[in-house]
Amino acid sequence: MKKIIMKRPEFITHYKSNPHAWRCICGNNGDDYGYYPCNKKGNEVEPTVKDWTTKWYICGNCGRMIDRDTLEVVGRNPHPKLLA
Ligand SMILES: [Zn+2]
Repeated sequence: MKKIIMKRPEFITHYKSNPHAWRCICGNNGDDYGYYPCNKKGNEVEPTVKDWTTKWYICGNCGRMIDRDTLEVVGRNPHPKLLA
């Protein structure tokens, strides 16, 4: 029998005093490594309507990809390509 393993979704948190100050599961609070708008592959994109269709951010430290609205971790790219 095949076992189906459902991974529990992960969520990052934000500081109570400031909903825009994110705190990633890895401990990145934005000041240390930052967050970058990214595409489905987890590579940085310009935050424009044309390029940024996912509304996801990638953590600059651990590469977790985060849904801006729900703060759910939607994927991970340990080696993101960043814009210069
Ligand atoms: Zn992180």
